[in-house]
Amino acid sequence: MAEFICYSCKKLVVTGEKFTFTKSGAVHFDCFISEKRRSISDDKVQKLRILSSVLESELDHLLNLLAARSSESEEYKEEMRIKYKDIEKAAGETTSLISKL
Ligand SMILES: [Zn+2]
Repeated sequence: MAEFICYSCKKLVVTGEKFTFTKSGAVHFDCFISEKRRSISDDKVQKLRILSSVLESELDHLLNLLAARSSESEEYKEEMRIKYKDIEKAAGETTSLISKL
């Protein structure tokens, strides 16, 4: 996996950590959500709670798929790659919904 620096805490995103991409670059899931929490009005807190839990499960899926990829057949890896792309896209959409709050 390529290495990224989180734009929020300025630390390296380590393999196995949940992270996402926004217009500003790579960011840890926790950094992204807590930064957002500080910048939104109280009426949006509930929306953030729901969307952040959706995003967290999507990122968990991605980590699970990454873990499943080694030592398997090429066909299986290809299936996992397609699944990864789908969920990566969904996570990107959830990230942009959160960014827009
Ligand atoms: Zn961070």
